Amino acid sequence: MHASTRGGPHVAVVGGGVSGLVAARELARGGATVTLVERDTTLGGRVRGAKLEGATFDVGAEAFATRGGAVAALMADLGLSDRIVHPAQLGSWVVTANGALPLPPGGAVGIPARPLAAAVRAHLGLRGALRVAVEPLLRRDVAGAGASAGGTAETLGALVRRRLGDRALDRLVRPIALGVYSTVPDRLEVQAVPGLADAYARTGSLVRAARQLRDASVAAGGAVAALAGGMTALVDALASDAEDRGSAIRTGTRVVEITRGVSEHAAAPGRPSGAQWTLRDGAGKTILRCDAVLLAVPESVAAALLAERTPPPPEHDIEVVALAVAEPRLDAAPRGTGALVAEGAGIAAKALTHATAKWPDRAASVPAGTHVIRLSYGRAGAAPETAGLSDDEALALACRDASLILGVPIAPAAVREWTRQPWKVGAPPGSAPRLAPPPGVELAGDWVSGTGLASVVPGARAAAARLLEHLTPTNESSVPSA
Ligand SMILES: Cc1cc2nc3c(=O)[nH]c(=O)nc-3n(C[C@H](O)[C@H](O)[C@H](O)COP(=O)(O)OP(=O)(O)OC[C@H]3O[C@@H](n4cnc5c(N)ncnc54)[C@H](O)[C@@H]3O)c2cc1C
Repeated sequence: MHASTRGGPHVAVVGGGVSGLVAARELARGGATVTLVERDTTLGGRVRGAKLEGATFDVGAEAFATRGGAVAALMADLGLSDRIVHPAQLGSWVVTANGALPLPPGGAVGIPARPLAAAVRAHLGLRGALRVAVEPLLRRDVAGAGASAGGTAETLGALVRRRLGDRALDRLVRPIALGVYSTVPDRLEVQAVPGLADAYARTGSLVRAARQLRDASVAAGGAVAALAGGMTALVDALASDAEDRGSAIRTGTRVVEITRGVSEHAAAPGRPSGAQWTLRDGAGKTILRCDAVLLAVPESVAAALLAERTPPPPEHDIEVVALAVAEPRLDAAPRGTGALVAEGAGIAAKALTHATAKWPDRAASVPAGTHVIRLSYGRAGAAPETAGLSDDEALALACRDASLILGVPIAPAAVREWTRQPWKVGAPPGSAPRLAPPPGVELAGDWVSGTGLASVVPGARAAAARLLEHLTPTNESSVPSA
């Protein structure tokens, strides 16, 4: 089925998250006729909003890293620049068994940029801070992941333990790795932390690398930004851009099979090799036929669609619980923009974001004295503590955790509206690709290019560019015909 009469090669994009939407845009810009197929009834994937107190709050991605500038450039193209907002500079906290402490500012995944700063000493004690402070004087090691950026798959845990010691690893790096990457440092490759391996290779020191990354993010105008009204504005803008470009969008359609055959259009001028792909749904019904496919789905789905025999790394479950609370004592933002929770603190949640403190535009959109706080559950290797709980039980747990983290009692009766949103999180990319798609199929997603929108947006554009190149007639000779 050809959804439009543009006449270029017909490309199916499977998955309507940010990766799929960005790829669809690039493909249409490159002259392809695009049909995007999304399983859910709504677009956006892990960018999703929920209405609380009449305003939209993100229950998936809530911000984007400004590094690289790709997301801001996309927003500029989509006419969204004037909606970009920056978080309040209130700092964030770590809650441990010993209480709550402000997080040292300007580090990279918890690696301190200024090891002797008071905030670092408060976490590590003087001895621990000194151990980190002397790290730039240690011998440069050649075996480490940074030294072989792109090569050896050393874990962040091993590298930090070796260079900075157990205390910095356990008290600073571990809670941040768990909060941001949902995994322990010993399971996280250094490569998965954007820029760290390269900065370490350049400087030979983790502390100097953290400083370089901090300076780069300051130069780029701060580490994260968002869109007024929530990140779903990006999804809406991408969807209307796709429609303006004549792309077709089919939601509520789950692709369960892709197979390759021979195109009846093989001889048509401008058509690629003659390979034709058929997408089918769970009932075996043909969804569409096309010249090429871009899979922007989770790794588990891509592996199944490509009939990959090696099982992908396991996904794990997390859950976000967002509460709109009438509690004026939170006006003081007692934990700044939010807090990460170390294991052993007696709190089930792994992180809390004080959304109305972090994003002033959102505070202005709810009644005075009302606060929206968002808790995340599900540490690596364990089911989220909210899994299997009834709504009443989940709400009670969220209120207890929020009270402990914020230091302000929050009773379920003070909660005006709330919502819970389960998610599945896949493994970040490793140093080598885990799936090898056949010619005519490309892959995009955070498991390909790295976690977060700042990695996903350029990754999806690159995947679309590779597919366009494959589809150009000059490349026909290199494409095996089926
Ligand atoms: C709770 C949470 C908070 C986050 N916070 C941030 C943040 O603040 N900043 C940031 O940059 N990143 C954040 N992220 C990560 C970010 O959301 C993701 O990296 C990004 O959204 C991934 O986009 P994607 O399009 O690759 O995948 P997804 O958004 O997962 O999209 C994949 C799409 O494929 C669809 N699909 C699956 N199977 C099929 C099928 N068989 N047929 C058709 N369609 C199918 C799915 O329904 C989905 O829409 C967060 C993630 C979570 C879960």
